[in-house]
Amino acid sequence: MANKRDYYEVLGVSKDATEDEIKKAYRKIAIKYHPDRNPDDKNAEEKFKEAAEAYDVLHDPQKRQQYDQFGFDAPGGFGGFSSGGFSMDDIFQMFGSVFEGGGFGGFGGFGGSRGNSQRKFRGGDLRLKVKLSLQEVSTGVTKKFRVKKDVTCPHCHGSGAAAGSGAETCPTCHGSGYTIQTKQTLFGVMQTQGTCPTCHGEGKVIKNKCKECGGDGVVKGEEVVEINIPAGVADGMVLTAQGKGNAGPHNGIPGDIQVFITEESNDTFVRQDRDLIYNLLLDFPTAALGGEVKIPTIDGKTLKINLEPGTQPGTTKRLRGKGLPAVQGYGSGNGDIIVNISVYVPKTLSREEKAALETMRHSDNFQSDKSTKQSIFKRFKDYFNN
Ligand SMILES: [Zn+2]
Ligand SMILES: [Zn+2]
Repeated sequence: MANKRDYYEVLGVSKDATEDEIKKAYRKIAIKYHPDRNPDDKNAEEKFKEAAEAYDVLHDPQKRQQYDQFGFDAPGGFGGFSSGGFSMDDIFQMFGSVFEGGGFGGFGGFGGSRGNSQRKFRGGDLRLKVKLSLQEVSTGVTKKFRVKKDVTCPHCHGSGAAAGSGAETCPTCHGSGYTIQTKQTLFGVMQTQGTCPTCHGEGKVIKNKCKECGGDGVVKGEEVVEINIPAGVADGMVLTAQGKGNAGPHNGIPGDIQVFITEESNDTFVRQDRDLIYNLLLDFPTAALGGEVKIPTIDGKTLKINLEPGTQPGTTKRLRGKGLPAVQGYGSGNGDIIVNISVYVPKTLSREEKAALETMRHSDNFQSDKSTKQSIFKRFKDYFNN
């Protein structure tokens, strides 16, 4: 991860490049380093993959925004790349969208010579909103959802073909998934390549369609999906649950579920990134005499801390490491609980209490200007040293 190049740098575009500029830049690099042109050249292959990864993130507005905001530390990483699952098939998949309709002729299709040229259909993405309590954020949580989505047709098991029949090689493109048009232009004969209109790039056609799904291989259905939410996420983050979206037609690639995180407010703590702020309303005797107080923690337990005599309102105490964890180990360690101390002044007093306070009223110790030589400035300094 450490020596990964910035995606914008990889494609040689500026941070505010348009989608079109990104597409063009990627196309240029992809053509230059395409494995068909650079057989057995490891360096070219790496460059090719690097560009594909950068393109995959930057051409998707949502991923791009995440990348701009978090860099490589974006929650959930990017696509399957960060987990290392980035195959050449995935890249050729992407070529479909870059070169489709763009009229690109010149190399042997998207892996036409590799025997996996046909495009696979991809199911659509779904979106879910998840509301989490602060406790759930602190530990991470697995949530189950009943999701309405396209599922593989149980009748034809996704093939789209009626029982006893199967898919046949597309007669238009002879299985390649694309067609090449030859055009006479001012500059000579130009060849343009496009997706086959008959099979839409799949290379196969179904003559005898399944009655249940009408040949798509998917039907409307429902599924319970489990989504793992890592600890430390925050309001506004979007996680991608890969492959949990709509099933892809004809046993294609399933879509993803985009999970939008929202956060419930908490009665005890105010969250500030990884820190949790706790407002302690300290009783006056403990503030003056010092003593032990209990501070709640996010796991529902309490922690005892000792306050020194003469604890002033406005003082803060930091309970290191008692805050929230960082998302999936990005960033370092847990945040803190920050205890903000203010002092409770009684609203009603008994006769005895009043009498006791009356005697204290005239004691120098109870006068802020006489009691200690503590200046406002020193208190200010103490505040930041805590
Ligand atoms: Zn079917
Ligand atoms: Zn075809």
